[in-house]
Amino acid sequence: RAKQEGKNRYRFFAPEINAQASERLFMANSLRAALDRDELRLVFQPCMDFATLEVAGVEALVRWEHPQKGTILPSRFISLAEESGLIEPIGEWVLREAARRVREWKNAGIFAGRVAVNLSPRQFRRSDLASRLLVVLDEAGLAPRDLELEVTEGMIMEHPERAVVVLTELVAAGVSISIDDFGTGYSSLAYLKRFPVHSLKIDRSFVSGLPGDRNDRSLTRAVVAVAKSLGLSVVAEGVEHAGQVDFLRRIGCDFAQGHYFSRPLDPAALGAFLREARTQEAHS
Ligand code: C2E
Ligand code: MG
Ligand code: MG
Ligand code: MG
Repeated sequence: RAKQEGKNRYRFFAPEINAQASERLFMANSLRAALDRDELRLVFQPCMDFATLEVAGVEALVRWEHPQKGTILPSRFISLAEESGLIEPIGEWVLREAARRVREWKNAGIFAGRVAVNLSPRQFRRSDLASRLLVVLDEAGLAPRDLELEVTEGMIMEHPERAVVVLTELVAAGVSISIDDFGTGYSSLAYLKRFPVHSLKIDRSFVSGLPGDRNDRSLTRAVVAVAKSLGLSVVAEGVEHAGQVDFLRRIGCDFAQGHYFSRPLDPAALGAFLREARTQEAHS
């Protein structure tokens, strides 16, 4: 009887699993083609300085403009790219494209900040990461100080000793490092002290409940306090309304990103945003 059931179960689940697997295989193949067909795009979200309300930097976020399916968000293809190894050429493209855009904005005299790029675990594991990055920056006529790399707690904790070496090399070259989605992973405060990082980005999930949620208030206060005592700056992610802005400002958060200030914008729209921000500055 058990055997019979087992057989039925097999029949029941197999097609579903196969469908999922073949969907992933299909996606992986079309993602590979997307790179060749130039279907990837970058959007940029401004990061605002709470003290001056100026644009301190921008974060590059990848999009896949699928000819039939429309815009596909990274949550639908980054892990696939990571598993298949495609993240390496994609990551390289992201960096090159981000550097190229920043060069344009600098040439136009509308941007003096840093561009933040998200790294993936596989990219972070490469021993030639720093040297490759420096080549791309140099080719775009940018300096290492123009770049910020976002890593996660998970990437660092996967192999802390190696992470210290890699981060130290990058920081020595002049690149800034921030810990993305801070608070959602497992990193020990002891390690935080040893790692040469410059800023912590408080995950959106802690910001969303502000200022009403008591736990979120405690957590964001704690992160700001830890950052300050270690000499790091703090960025709040996912800021959507004025109540969050007021609270974050009051507790000493340095920077903020979110729909309240701007959604991620395509390069032309970001150029307009930067020009507008400059005009306001000139008149204030
Ligand atoms: P992340 O680095 O934490 O980026 C922040 C995400 O929050 C972005 O989603 C952004 O569009 C979204 N966001 C910003 N402000 C708000 C807000 O006020 N409210 C809400 N609800 N969301 C907001 P996105 O662009 O879909 O990216 C998701 C994640 O995909 C990123 O999270 C990052 O981990 C990853 N990712 C994006 N681009 C790249 C890339 O080029 N390479 C790698 N390896 N990962 C990337
Ligand atoms: Mg990020
Ligand atoms: Mg990220
Ligand atoms: Mg994040």
